[in-house]
Amino acid sequence: MSYDYDLFVIGGGSGGIATARRAAGYGAKVAVAEFNRLGGTCVNRGCIPKKLMVYSSHFPGMMQDAVGYGWSEVESTLDWPKMITAVNNEVERLNGVYQRMLDNAKVDVFEAYAKFLDPHTLDVGGEKVTADKILIAVGGHPIKPDSIPGIEHTITSDEFFHLPEQPKRMLIIGGGYIGCEFACILNGMGTEVMQVIRGDMLLKGFDGDLRSTIQEEMQRKGIRLLTKSTISHIEKTDSGLKVGVNNNSEEIILTDAVGLAATGRKPNLDALGLENTGVETDNGAIAVDEYSSTAEENIFAVGDCIARMELTPVAINEGRAFADTHFGGQSRQMSYENIPTAIFTSPEAASVGLTEAEARKRCGDAVKIYRTKFRPMYYTLAERSEKTMMKLVVDCNSDRVLGAHMVGDHAAEIIQGVAIAVKMGATKADFDATIGIHPTIAEEFVTLR
Ligand SMILES: Cc1cc2nc3c(=O)[nH]c(=O)nc-3n(C[C@H](O)[C@H](O)[C@H](O)COP(=O)(O)OP(=O)(O)OC[C@H]3O[C@@H](n4cnc5c(N)ncnc54)[C@H](O)[C@@H]3O)c2cc1C
Repeated sequence: MSYDYDLFVIGGGSGGIATARRAAGYGAKVAVAEFNRLGGTCVNRGCIPKKLMVYSSHFPGMMQDAVGYGWSEVESTLDWPKMITAVNNEVERLNGVYQRMLDNAKVDVFEAYAKFLDPHTLDVGGEKVTADKILIAVGGHPIKPDSIPGIEHTITSDEFFHLPEQPKRMLIIGGGYIGCEFACILNGMGTEVMQVIRGDMLLKGFDGDLRSTIQEEMQRKGIRLLTKSTISHIEKTDSGLKVGVNNNSEEIILTDAVGLAATGRKPNLDALGLENTGVETDNGAIAVDEYSSTAEENIFAVGDCIARMELTPVAINEGRAFADTHFGGQSRQMSYENIPTAIFTSPEAASVGLTEAEARKRCGDAVKIYRTKFRPMYYTLAERSEKTMMKLVVDCNSDRVLGAHMVGDHAAEIIQGVAIAVKMGATKADFDATIGIHPTIAEEFVTLR
């Protein structure tokens, strides 16, 4: 049987584009369908615009620090619409870069929604297209719970990047990494930020010392954190949004905007026509094996729609492993061990490997913790009491470093390097044998005692 394409990719986001390019590089005839903008969540509504706004939020602190270094004081204000326009112009430029990358790889791009008619046939914007193999890389979207009256007045991360003006006051519901990042962006830009969380600590799932250090630092910078609290209702009034926050008693909080970061994301599967295939789902995500194969023999899935680890490099690597296996003649599985990850809060945080709690569960008393907390040199003249925390989790039976965690400037850049050592199975003795670069923050990782 002959098909229009060897591989048809549904979704032109991080996972879809990487897979299409890799498979085309092996000589496969490939097409991608994307009904929105190329680049997906990461480029259009995630990592990229977020990180640009993180950079923007750092300038007031840096201008203040400069005074301690002898510079005269600077009076500066943020032109929010100008910043949003600049961010979105950069996003648009990247959309074009992705288009060119696909063109150069000779991948056909359908600017249309694709849905299954049968396991080998898709309806792509009204056109029937067939393919030998089909990769689902449709990502996900933020969801709003319908249990809170007035939830329609909230915004999700998608709308955040298009707010026409800077909210003077913002209430963020949720303590996950996206909620914390948005809280810090706005706090850095001068918005009065309040964060409401159900539990007693931000950033569930991360290492305890990392969580407590970020929480202390965020509160120290003026973010008001309401723990063990829930939202009863949201009401729109002439003076702003009135939010009922329950914490033993009910407090009514007046704010300009409510950001929803608590209720997570859902894979984009509803209109995909999966019922016309044998693809199965598990808890709302596509069920796949370790080779990204679904229950339908010629259909595969990667990225946020399989909800394993919702990160861009993970989606990319799942896709490349699939392409290498099916078009490159090298059978390859994605490894989920020791995936480094960062939280672009202020201060920044990053981690690789096991948390202390996970290591204790696995190795019991054999776990040894090396930790330091200090004020980095940069902040001495700036006279800021910003703290850096660095921690290694070590299995003392094997001496292997099981995890590395950091809160502080450049944490993501530093942990990226440490992650190579952890992934290679480095021991604490290997860290100790490495000469530090002086004077740096990173050298603490090789001098921890
Ligand atoms: C606010 C925010 C911040 C983030 N920050 C980071 C970060 O700092 N670092 C990090 O690693 N990750 C981050 N992420 C996560 C990261 O963006 C995702 O993990 C990544 O984009 C997933 O890639 P994907 O290819 O699976 O899906 P996506 O990038 O979402 O791409 C899926 C694409 O499929 C398209 N599509 C859907 N259905 C169809 C259809 N039927 N036909 C045609 N096209 C379709 C969609 O329009 C979309 O463009 C962030 C996410 C958010 C929301």
